[in-house]
Amino acid sequence: MNCTFCRVLAGELPSSKILERDTVVAFLDVHPINQGHTLIVPRRHVESFTELTPTESAEILEAAKVVGVHLKSALTGAEGVTLSLADGAVAGQEVPHAHLHVIPRRVGAGFGWKFPEGYGEKSPRETLDGVAKLIRNSIDGNKTS
Ligand SMILES: [Zn+2]
Repeated sequence: MNCTFCRVLAGELPSSKILERDTVVAFLDVHPINQGHTLIVPRRHVESFTELTPTESAEILEAAKVVGVHLKSALTGAEGVTLSLADGAVAGQEVPHAHLHVIPRRVGAGFGWKFPEGYGEKSPRETLDGVAKLIRNSIDGNKTS
């Protein structure tokens, strides 16, 4: 088994677990952005979050809620939480086993989103409507989703 997270889940690699549920496990990231940076992973190996079952999806988000509450109550200065899920290498997914990052946020911690040039300009309604139509058409053409 080459998957790092499957090896963690099998106990072949050490981990600092936060919580375990029927279909998901939360443990600390070994390369934390900051103290408390947690990963929530499905027990079942799937590369993309789009392959998760409804139960797995629900348990991941419920686990994120619990972890988020307790990161803030347990860790000094953690006043907020950012959830991040990268799907695909181009999105920054480094381990090909779906996972949700729960990252505690502290004032002045130096971590945040990097936006492209031009971000913040309001997009024209016709542009938004055109993009929305493309996505709706894709959804309508694939009724299994
Ligand atoms: Zn895996």
